[in-house]
Amino acid sequence: MNERRSKGEDGQTEEGTRGSLDLSDLADARRGESRQPARRLHRTLEDHLGTVDLVITDNRRRMVTTRFRQERREIRLHHMFLEPPTSVVEAVVKLSRGEAGDGDPRETLRSYIRTNRERIQFRPADDELKPKGEHFDLNRLLKRARGLLDEPELDDIAITWGRDGRGSKTIRFGSFDFDQRLIRVHPALDEDWVPRYFVEFIIYHELLHAVCPPEEDQQNRRIHTDEFQRLEKEFPRYEEAMEWESEHLQRFLNRT
Ligand SMILES: [Zn+2]
Repeated sequence: MNERRSKGEDGQTEEGTRGSLDLSDLADARRGESRQPARRLHRTLEDHLGTVDLVITDNRRRMVTTRFRQERREIRLHHMFLEPPTSVVEAVVKLSRGEAGDGDPRETLRSYIRTNRERIQFRPADDELKPKGEHFDLNRLLKRARGLLDEPELDDIAITWGRDGRGSKTIRFGSFDFDQRLIRVHPALDEDWVPRYFVEFIIYHELLHAVCPPEEDQQNRRIHTDEFQRLEKEFPRYEEAMEWESEHLQRFLNRT
């Protein structure tokens, strides 16, 4: 998992701790802000457990792992655990000692993960994003579409060309990933015969998903709410975009 990375300054022993601290799994931007809380957590864990090799990860599938490796205690924690409440520290300590004790430590950790999941924005790494196409630079179009909405909270939204899924009876021109705050645009739109305003309209539509979150009650989940539809029609070339789409949809569906 981490083998491809060199240890660099991570994986070294920090002052005041005995074991090593490894932050190399984190993206650069997160690593800097994580160092202080990671050191604090490392000291706290060592107060309870003695020498600990602590690895802070970006691994969403295995958020907490503890094991002994060559006589050393290793704890791997997702970065959502960097500033944990005491109950969570205790649960990690119990888990690492292999103690069940009163109350299953796993249950404490699971409930912490459940309640904190939404607070974490799982940002895609920059090298996973491909905004530059052959004909359209999505970042430029995103900027223009954002300018139409003028909502400061849209500033952190990222964009990329998606993967081409062919052989379907429908085509999804765009999608918005709420967790990653990421817009994906279908690569079939990266053609010289596709007007720029149409791609911009697709991006505008996806941005609206961030502005107007789905409304939910017990039975229903409305994605394109009334407010969503009202704002969508405010796109300057809305009518044209709708017309262009209905005239050219078949061409997209026919592509092989
Ligand atoms: Zn939509």
